Amino acid sequence: MKSSIQVACPTCRQKGVWFKGAFGPFCSKRCKWVDLGKWFEEEMLITENLRPDLFQGYGDLPPGIYLDDPGQDPYGQR
Ligand SMILES: [Zn+2]
Repeated sequence: MKSSIQVACPTCRQKGVWFKGAFGPFCSKRCKWVDLGKWFEEEMLITENLRPDLFQGYGDLPPGIYLDDPGQDPYGQR
């Protein structure tokens, strides 16, 4: 049976039949939350805080400009 395969807990590397448990593939609720915390921490490290100066000039943009399209220069100065 697939669910009886032994796996190593991603957090503490302890081996067991974790997929059968409520927290699979983690061995415990604690290990599941530790892993989740790692992701949140990493996200905070790579995310720059939003500052008002990052949005300077956005109010002057003509409508219909896609701000997340790097190929589009709203001022045509490229
Ligand atoms: Zn664990």
